[in-house]
Amino acid sequence: MIDLNLYEEYYHMTKIFPHTFMVSSKTQHTPFGSDNYILEGDECALCIDSGMTPLDYYAYVCSLTDLPVLGVINTHSHFDHTGGNGYFPKVFMNPLAEKGAKTPFNDALGGEVYEYPLDYEITPVKDGDIIDLGSRVLEIIEIGAHDLSSIAILDKTNRILFSGDELESGWCNIGSFGPADPRQTILTHYQNMRKLKARADEFDWICPGHHGAPLPKDLLNHVLIADKMILDGAPGDPNIPLKNGGGFIKNEDQKVRAMRYKMAHIGFNIDRVR
Ligand SMILES: [Zn+2]
Repeated sequence: MIDLNLYEEYYHMTKIFPHTFMVSSKTQHTPFGSDNYILEGDECALCIDSGMTPLDYYAYVCSLTDLPVLGVINTHSHFDHTGGNGYFPKVFMNPLAEKGAKTPFNDALGGEVYEYPLDYEITPVKDGDIIDLGSRVLEIIEIGAHDLSSIAILDKTNRILFSGDELESGWCNIGSFGPADPRQTILTHYQNMRKLKARADEFDWICPGHHGAPLPKDLLNHVLIADKMILDGAPGDPNIPLKNGGGFIKNEDQKVRAMRYKMAHIGFNIDRVR
């Protein structure tokens, strides 16, 4: 038995659809929090992302569902989505995510943070792969730009798109901080959003990795418009919050800009548009 009082300091669980739970995790190191999901099929349950807390997230998930928990699938490599991976019996991810997911968090955030189990096997997934939880079919769609390992998970049965950090209403960073790969551009992000738009008749709701869910799928249109404005040369707003949660955006040279359109907020670097 786990001490639920202790867990409730770090997790807040909300039922957002039948057999679908959002678990928001929050710690002093991730004040921006992250939204993780538990999906139940007829035969088993699967977690989408594992948050970042000092607790055994798998034990918590097992206390919430009567079904066997198949494992966790990561939307991308970042520490605030992969921290609890090592407790799960199976970890699905894009192989590009492994290096980031197994980098200790104190390397990313500085200072002392919790110890995490980082020694686990991964089960690779790729574009077009299907995971069936028993009358609940999920499809993997690769959409790397915010992080090259990013995947969306399309719940074809329930018409929900789980989008990780590539498509969210808060602050969607595309190559705007840290050392980015040359492929992490607004152009790449826009092409990925077009890829999702081509599938838009297959979902009604979007569940991102931060800032709450579910969101109406109009969000995708707003993000497409914001990306297109950047690609067409709109300068964006240099007056952006210099701190993003842990405070890792430095904008002394004013190269990081914000583009906002209705629900979409894109953070980008003017040197990484194309
Ligand atoms: Zn991320």
